[in-house]
Amino acid sequence: MAAAFHFELCDLPRDEARALRSKVRNFLNDVSAGWTIADRARSWTAFDRDFSRQVGRHGWIGMTWPANYGGHERSALERYVVLEEMLAAGAPVAAHWIADRQSGPLILRVGTDEQKREFLPRIARGELAFCIGLSEPDSGSDLASLRSKATRISGGWRLDGAKIWTTNAHQSDFMIGLFRTAPASETARHIGLSQFLIDLKSSGIEIRPIADLTGESHFNEVRFDAVFVPDSMMVGREGDGWAQVNAELAFERSGPDRYLSAYPLVPPMLDAIGKTGFEAQAARDVGRLVARLATLRAMSISVAGMLQAGATPLQEAALIKDLGVDLEQDTPRLVEDLVGLPPAFDDPGGLAAATAYVTQVAPTFSLRGGTREIMRGLTARGLGLR
Ligand SMILES: Cc1cc2nc3c(=O)[nH]c(=O)nc-3n(C[C@H](O)[C@H](O)[C@H](O)COP(=O)(O)OP(=O)(O)OC[C@H]3O[C@@H](n4cnc5c(N)ncnc54)[C@H](O)[C@@H]3O)c2cc1C
Repeated sequence: MAAAFHFELCDLPRDEARALRSKVRNFLNDVSAGWTIADRARSWTAFDRDFSRQVGRHGWIGMTWPANYGGHERSALERYVVLEEMLAAGAPVAAHWIADRQSGPLILRVGTDEQKREFLPRIARGELAFCIGLSEPDSGSDLASLRSKATRISGGWRLDGAKIWTTNAHQSDFMIGLFRTAPASETARHIGLSQFLIDLKSSGIEIRPIADLTGESHFNEVRFDAVFVPDSMMVGREGDGWAQVNAELAFERSGPDRYLSAYPLVPPMLDAIGKTGFEAQAARDVGRLVARLATLRAMSISVAGMLQAGATPLQEAALIKDLGVDLEQDTPRLVEDLVGLPPAFDDPGGLAAATAYVTQVAPTFSLRGGTREIMRGLTARGLGLR
């Protein structure tokens, strides 16, 4: 059995990290006066373009990208400091999160110089929001079975088909979508897929919001009916879409957004327990929570270090996502057990309402970004078990 996981411990750069952390905290203290616990629990699904522009002005989007494309040439570890401060504070980061985490790095890696000049500086200024067009009504985990197709026509491509569960499509400017540009064969379904940068204002696109359990609509069905995309908007090489998407997934699955989604419940929970006095059982449960958080943080920083070194640690990222969502899903139950506060919406803005919100969205944590079973399949492969 081959043990193929590598989590070398890696420190955040001490002096730079400390100075940066205090700048980010000061900024967040200034802007967060009116945020309730329930607002904070929405964090990376809360879409606020003004906030993203402010973050862009501070130089905290596209932090690792080259300066000639609007980036700030900082390390992935410094970027990590900004991400964890934003999520720990429950900042409304959704309007720039996907572009900063995934779309921008993809364009930087495989995009044309024209695409880099056109998109990256605007993303770094917090002006452009992106969404990810992978899943389809009949293709989720088995993504290679997707049927949306791109047909070559004069000057570009014609897109037809449908994407589903597309987070923030209704509020975004662009989608990076995966389409079939050549037929699959029985033995190699992954060939013939390509990625496109799609202006969501193009004619022939219909975006239908889908309500989740909370009644809010973050994700959508996006239908394409003879949508024209110019040649210049293909991302990377024709037919390389599968490899490109897989490389993106290490960015999508390993960051602090995979274990801090429920974190805004933790400080008010500790305050509430502190007021009633810590019993031995509560102390044990809080200790366990802190140990899990610290372990996930060390693993996630380790992956940030590997990404900085140019590696694609897909299996390590999958393990972090699997363990991280377990912690996120356990957190609302812990609030109920330790504070004795059942989830309830009759205290808008308070801990009970925030816990009720997280309870309702928690089932999605182990679906979005790849399901638990798929993460465990990747882990089994990493261990040489399949
Ligand atoms: C909140 C949220 C946001 C999302 N945002 C986006 C987005 O922005 N863009 C996007 O493209 N997609 C998005 N998705 C979709 C998400 O990626 C898919 O839901 C996910 O990949 C699962 O696909 P599916 O829903 O089709 O389920 P299926 O793939 O049909 O899976 C159904 C069940 O079968 C299990 N299963 C499937 N295959 C296997 C297997 N080989 N072995 C064991 N078990 C298996 C799964 O684990 C799951 O429990 C989002 C989903 C959610 C919940």
